[in-house]
Amino acid sequence: MLTARDVQGKIITIPENIPKERLVEWQTNQYYCPCCTAELILKAGQIKIPHFAHKKTSACTASSEPESEYHLLGKRKLFQWFVNNHIEPEMEPYLPEIRKRPDILIYYKEQSYAIEFQCSPISEEVFLSRTKSYQGAGIKPIWILAEKRIKRKKTRKYSLSAFQWLFAMNTVQSPMIFTFCPDKQKLYMLEPLTPFSPRTTFSQLAVLPLSNTLPQILFSTNKTWKFHFTEEWRAQRKSWAIHSVKTAKQSNPFFNGLYKNGLSPAWIPSEIGLPVEGMVMIETSAVEWQGWIFMDCLQNKKIGSRIYRSQIYHSFQRRISNGQIRLRTLPMISAKNPFLAVDAYLTLLVKLEILEFGGKGIYLIKNKLNLPTSSVEYVQLESSIYSKLSEMILL
Ligand SMILES: [Zn+2]
Repeated sequence: MLTARDVQGKIITIPENIPKERLVEWQTNQYYCPCCTAELILKAGQIKIPHFAHKKTSACTASSEPESEYHLLGKRKLFQWFVNNHIEPEMEPYLPEIRKRPDILIYYKEQSYAIEFQCSPISEEVFLSRTKSYQGAGIKPIWILAEKRIKRKKTRKYSLSAFQWLFAMNTVQSPMIFTFCPDKQKLYMLEPLTPFSPRTTFSQLAVLPLSNTLPQILFSTNKTWKFHFTEEWRAQRKSWAIHSVKTAKQSNPFFNGLYKNGLSPAWIPSEIGLPVEGMVMIETSAVEWQGWIFMDCLQNKKIGSRIYRSQIYHSFQRRISNGQIRLRTLPMISAKNPFLAVDAYLTLLVKLEILEFGGKGIYLIKNKLNLPTSSVEYVQLESSIYSKLSEMILL
């Protein structure tokens, strides 16, 4: 940490460019933890940024030690960024009512924000409890992930762990993650996060040097859903058709479901596994949750028969309760209703003329999903779906 109490009880922060002589002077004094009041030592080596640390491994609730150079530098740079842009930050303020100590606290337009720059992995439990504490105190947490932790697989394809997904902010329509590299003094914005499966996620990447970026970017609330990844999605969906069976476990209930319904994973219709608004709330891949809707509610219905939306919700809910459809933990995104994604999917099926509206809460089967009988036919059907999808996106 960069902040401590001195002998008089005053909160002090180590200046950014402290000369060596003054540091020696500083080191002769005594310092105390603002949280647990234990005595702290001022560590000032050759390389590492001078910082305070507890003497031994302490049970201090507000400390996350040992602190890396990357973390210390990150706090410094972000702090200075707020100062430069006239948003007054507090470094590591101790908040006694919730017994938490965010890296930085800022106040902007009548809202407090706790900025956490997370470099080391912590447990999901700790992340969630800290987030809830802030939210309970009316403080909005903004978690920024260390840039070096992000795994990029291709230009616009990332592998995000469940832990990294916790960092998603903004809205279900346009979820985003911020990462930061203190060495390069750049923020990175992954947006909109468009998950294909629990981990594989498509996203655009914006590189934002602190020097010409305003902190207000952290508070955005974009509520428009846009799909930017038709080509990548299509390739991933094809790859799923080819490879998923090879890696699926025998006990996998989804693949068992397919076999019981006479469906081969390689040939399930391309209308299953399409991108829709709100799908970020569902951790299970779109192919699987849409596949369940198909098997549970659509497959055995004749053309013209009615389906009630409530039935679809009910069977979807049952798959959630069984654990066959899993929801994503997104503590910083509010208004999460997974049925939004179900509705968006049904609307898409109407546009693709598989369903039609039959009045309030009612759908009619307009066309059966074509089960291809040869690979030539499969390719034709797939190509037709994706050209329709591209047209819809362009509209
Ligand atoms: Zn302490």
